[in-house]
Amino acid sequence: MKTLYVKFIVITMGIMILSSIFAFIISNTYYQQILKPDNDEKITKIAESVATYMEEHPTLDLKEHLNHISSVGYQIYLTNDAGEEDFFGAEFREKNLSPSTIETVLGGNTYHGILHFPQGTFVTGFFANELKNTIGVPFRYNEKNYALFLRPDIKLLFNEMHFLFGWLLLFTILLSIIMVLFSTKYLVKPISKLTTATKSLSNGDFNVELDITRQDELGELSYSFLHMARKLEQADDVRKEFISNISHDIQSPLSNIKGYTKLLENESVSVEERGKYISIIHDEIRRLSNLTKQLLLLASLDRSDDIVKKKPFNVSEQIKELVRNYQWQVSEKGIMLSYSLPDIEITGDPSLLNTVWDNLLTNAIKYNKTDGSIEISLEEKEDSIIVSFKDTGIGLNRSEIDRIFDRFYRADSSRTRTIEGTGLGLSIVWTIIKLHDGQIQVESIENVGTTFTIELPIYKQN
Ligand code: ADP
Repeated sequence: MKTLYVKFIVITMGIMILSSIFAFIISNTYYQQILKPDNDEKITKIAESVATYMEEHPTLDLKEHLNHISSVGYQIYLTNDAGEEDFFGAEFREKNLSPSTIETVLGGNTYHGILHFPQGTFVTGFFANELKNTIGVPFRYNEKNYALFLRPDIKLLFNEMHFLFGWLLLFTILLSIIMVLFSTKYLVKPISKLTTATKSLSNGDFNVELDITRQDELGELSYSFLHMARKLEQADDVRKEFISNISHDIQSPLSNIKGYTKLLENESVSVEERGKYISIIHDEIRRLSNLTKQLLLLASLDRSDDIVKKKPFNVSEQIKELVRNYQWQVSEKGIMLSYSLPDIEITGDPSLLNTVWDNLLTNAIKYNKTDGSIEISLEEKEDSIIVSFKDTGIGLNRSEIDRIFDRFYRADSSRTRTIEGTGLGLSIVWTIIKLHDGQIQVESIENVGTTFTIELPIYKQN
């Protein structure tokens, strides 16, 4: 497999070569179509003016004059009807002019050798140092017919420029190759680093280092990758903590059950004590059963939101029913429970939302003070309902508030130690509210009380 580095270099070089070929073809076409006729016309004019000048100055020393003209950058061939011929300026590489051409010019016609030079590239056409590649004009001088063939001496005109352009081209090509090699390395390096980081991540090592200072797409990708690695690390920590919590929460009632059944095996245990032990075993079984129920619910909530079966129902009726069910617990603790629950219908999953109210109400009872109070209110606000559960209980401090929706989190204060719970209730509440596109907020003051406020969309059905 070719590496990205090699591919990038091959593609860039390919683009450079292709664009040079295209640029060459385009400039060649431009030369053939536009520059060549222009050039021919320009040189024809020069040749004609040289010829006219000589015709008008019969006392002129022809050779001296043409020598003079050739020295400013022309190659000249002069012949006449007497068969005399002379060359001025740099020598032609090929003296391939046909006698018939010479005859035609001597006969008074102009020869356009530059325009009719065989179609090749502009390099061969423009630079071809051939006698054929000239302009031929006739003139009369001292009773003789002359033919003057002329072309610019490209070598003389372009000598320095020629080298300059050559070097320029060479340096441009070399520098582009070097720059492509380095810039590709610069581009590909972070990708290789990302690959290494991905490998270490898949091996469970979340400690990856990437350059996130780059202000481009690769920098952004590295940043997102690091962000993802941190999230995965957190998820891994949560998973480990979750497993250890479950193990602990299952293990402790199981060892209690084991211990008490062992005690029951002892025949000397009194009936009274036997009853006490059986009741403890029952409590532990209930705890285990609650825990597994909550875990199963959380697992199914996590797996998909298909579990949410929404339908319209009267939310105030539902909460009132719940209050009736807990009435005895409320009175037992001497709590004053009041509510304001106007009839409102919403669309949601009645069973899941019942779990939400159930958790909030049992917490408000569990974490309340004796003779405290609970206020439940429901109100409609635009397209949502606002439900709040306010208690005068033990309250929570700032750091506890930040964690109460975490799985298995229980505020570990001396005040809650004796209260039974799993630490899963509020995380279930949070997940259900999110599945209903709602919001949940907590306000709490230690030893004063806590208020949970939930906002849920009504989703009125037409
Ligand atoms: P638990 O089964 O322990 O009640 P929850 O997830 O329902 O688990 O609650 C998590 C923790 O949040 C509780 O252990 C408790 O410390 C705190 N908490 C929940 N509701 C209240 C409340 N109304 N007042 C004070 N503390 C609360």
